[in-house]
Amino acid sequence: MSQSVNTWQQRDAELLWHPYSSLTEPSPVRLVRGASGVRLQLDDGQGGTVEAIDAMASWWCMIHGYRNPVLDAALKAQADDFSHVMFGGLTHEPAIRLAERLVGITPDPLRHVFLCDSGSVSVEVAIKIALQYQVARGNDGRTRMLTVRGGYHGDTFAPMSVCDPVNGMHSLFTGALKEQIFGPQPPAGFDRPDDDPELRAWAAVMSELAAQYSGQIAGIIVEPVLQGAGGMYPYSPACLRVLRELADRHGFLLIFDEIATGFGRTGTLFASEHAGLDPDILCVGKAITGGYITLAAMLCTTDVAHTVSNGPGGALMHGPTFMANPLACAVALASIDLLLSQDWSAEVARISSGLSAGLAPASALPAVKDVRVLGAVGVVQLSGPVDLPRMTEAALRRGVWVRPFRDLVYTMPPYICTDADIATITSAITGAIEEAG
Ligand code: PMP
Repeated sequence: MSQSVNTWQQRDAELLWHPYSSLTEPSPVRLVRGASGVRLQLDDGQGGTVEAIDAMASWWCMIHGYRNPVLDAALKAQADDFSHVMFGGLTHEPAIRLAERLVGITPDPLRHVFLCDSGSVSVEVAIKIALQYQVARGNDGRTRMLTVRGGYHGDTFAPMSVCDPVNGMHSLFTGALKEQIFGPQPPAGFDRPDDDPELRAWAAVMSELAAQYSGQIAGIIVEPVLQGAGGMYPYSPACLRVLRELADRHGFLLIFDEIATGFGRTGTLFASEHAGLDPDILCVGKAITGGYITLAAMLCTTDVAHTVSNGPGGALMHGPTFMANPLACAVALASIDLLLSQDWSAEVARISSGLSAGLAPASALPAVKDVRVLGAVGVVQLSGPVDLPRMTEAALRRGVWVRPFRDLVYTMPPYICTDADIATITSAITGAIEEAG
């Protein structure tokens, strides 16, 4: 390594990829010196630190804040027991307890759990089990997924194939990605009723696609009610009822990817509750460990689990090395119990009102196209692409860490944010857009 490399940032830039980054033109990164509660302590480049509220909750995860004493204790206690064991031929209490808890809090028919390393892997497993299910039922040609435009399901190949074909940059991987079936994006807006004309038109297109490709489709996969990294886009629960009906009519499995929306973020514990229906397969991740360690889960119904188990191969063909990592399971259990021990829905509602009130003035700004809030998620959409370094810097000067993408400046704060923290976040976002939008 060259002698001239002296700052942490320079050393980082030579060595490390960051999400969606270039090694020849690396974007600036800030060094984290510490984090506690809702605040990050960032190196200020002059030997000191600057504090910022993490308005991103480390990408949806850190719902109880950093250095949470309950989660810290759970992690340490498990580390004192054992940190990891293989899950092949062995089991442990943290995994069993977590599985029981997940089955207890997710929609009733979901009774079986596959614990894995990351959200993307849980989507891989969900797609795999859907394909195995169809094979087990003698539907060998059903190897594709039906989804909608604007979705995001992760960066490994199967999830990428069901991400929005444009945002997901399918063109870079032509020939390597499974060609899935994409319907139109559901019409925007959470409050659309079942008989809304645009929603009916969308349902008609989905219904045609389902009928046209029914012999090829294994399942339908969507992020219920809120598309996340594909565009921070809320849509009506009535659309999910349409998809449930299509799945039932044609024998597709309905997969809900609640990796972002799970654990209260949209105002219900799981977003499917808004629609009053159950998926056949559910993926959860992100906030499952309160942001402490990577872990995700795929849950499914007994019909799915038993059909696959009794089908060719006799097993679900997946088994990662770090499956059901005990540290992750222990901290996930502590995080879920901490969430359930509080009036979390009141907290999410409180944050929601704070975001709505605080972001409302942003709609008057010339650079702003739309402001939308769903649960503890606040989004300001600009009329053009965000100048990422300027916007980040402008928000940081106002004491808030945000990570905009495309034309979106948004926040999904930790649930422990006070009203004052939420006001700081919303005024920083508004101020930053005024300055750099
Ligand atoms: N699905 C959704 C809805 C997500 O938001 C994400 C992560 N942004 C993923 C899947 C992938 O999860 P991971 O990054 O843990 O692989």
